[in-house]
Amino acid sequence: MKVSVVGAGVMGCATAWALRERGAEVAVYEQFDLDHARGSSHGRTRIFRLAYPEPYWVRFAQEAYTGWKDLDLSVLGLYGLVELVADPAATSARALEACGVPYRLLDRDEVRALGANLPDGWTALHLADAGVVFADRARHAFLQAAGVEVETNRRIESTDELDADVVVVTAGSWVRGLVPDVPVTVTRETLAYFKREGPPVASIVDLSVETGGHGMYSLHDPVHGLKVGAHHAGSEIDPGTEGTPDPALVERIASWVRERFPDVDPEPVEAQTCLYTTTADDGFILERRGRVVVGSACSGHGFKFAPAVGRRLAALALD
Ligand SMILES: Cc1cc2nc3c(=O)[nH]c(=O)nc-3n(C[C@H](O)[C@H](O)[C@H](O)COP(=O)(O)OP(=O)(O)OC[C@H]3O[C@@H](n4cnc5c(N)ncnc54)[C@H](O)[C@@H]3O)c2cc1C
Repeated sequence: MKVSVVGAGVMGCATAWALRERGAEVAVYEQFDLDHARGSSHGRTRIFRLAYPEPYWVRFAQEAYTGWKDLDLSVLGLYGLVELVADPAATSARALEACGVPYRLLDRDEVRALGANLPDGWTALHLADAGVVFADRARHAFLQAAGVEVETNRRIESTDELDADVVVVTAGSWVRGLVPDVPVTVTRETLAYFKREGPPVASIVDLSVETGGHGMYSLHDPVHGLKVGAHHAGSEIDPGTEGTPDPALVERIASWVRERFPDVDPEPVEAQTCLYTTTADDGFILERRGRVVVGSACSGHGFKFAPAVGRRLAALALD
């Protein structure tokens, strides 16, 4: 079976890996350079975690964890994760129990020993099977394991121009350029880096009681020490336009660092943008439409699932 993959972000790279695993003939096309910073997969780290308030996502993350182990476990940094939340009922505890994932609750001193402040009356849930995935290294590991060369600086205008039995569209924020009716919204998000010395820190997420999802988050960065962002805080944009970090968001992120990390200088050393491609329920669109397979897996939390998404898209293409 001859399969073309449009887009060499982490979902395209993972799909190429999964297709090669199953013996397919694979070609991958990317409109920019391989390591460009215009989409959603660039940068050194992303949070990896099994902790989600819903068992569906915990099991999906467990499936992905198996995939990362099959690819190369060293692309994960298992430094742990701490959920901080005002309402104990809003943690991932019940879903983790339902999926047999061990966790424990931390007290104020234990959270402080991890470098963070626990606000009065808040709950801290710690998970060992979590931390970061080394983003750029992971994308390259998929391509290397697949033994596939990416044709870069080649923008695919229509899936009809590709000589393949099946075309997998993993075009991230540009998906509607090839599949117009995919229901997603594109926002440009802002994140910032802070100087932090010492061993890698656990990833930390402030759960928002209103949305049940992430509010502010932080994770280890191998160069500066700490990477911090505000989830779903960016403005809607056209992915064809370039942009810069939002100063108001950088200030919001810095004030969270000031409050949460007493040992960290809250003066950001670098700021960056990255695109979210978001669905109404933060779910993923993995579907086949005739000769075309659509893979839109983002909503600001897709990276960790890449091996599982890749294998599911490969199955849609080959089965
Ligand atoms: C600020 C931020 C923080 C995040 N934090 C986390 C986290 O902590 N944990 C986590 O699990 N996830 C996180 N995510 C989400 C994760 O990064 C994304 O879900 C994932 O990178 C999406 O990958 P993708 O391959 O779908 O998209 P992309 O990486 O954007 O790849 C799509 C590629 O397709 C190419 N392309 C598009 N159209 C065409 C065309 N017509 N022809 C050729 N090439 C084309 C684009 O140039 C691009 O390279 C975060 C995302 C952002 C933005």
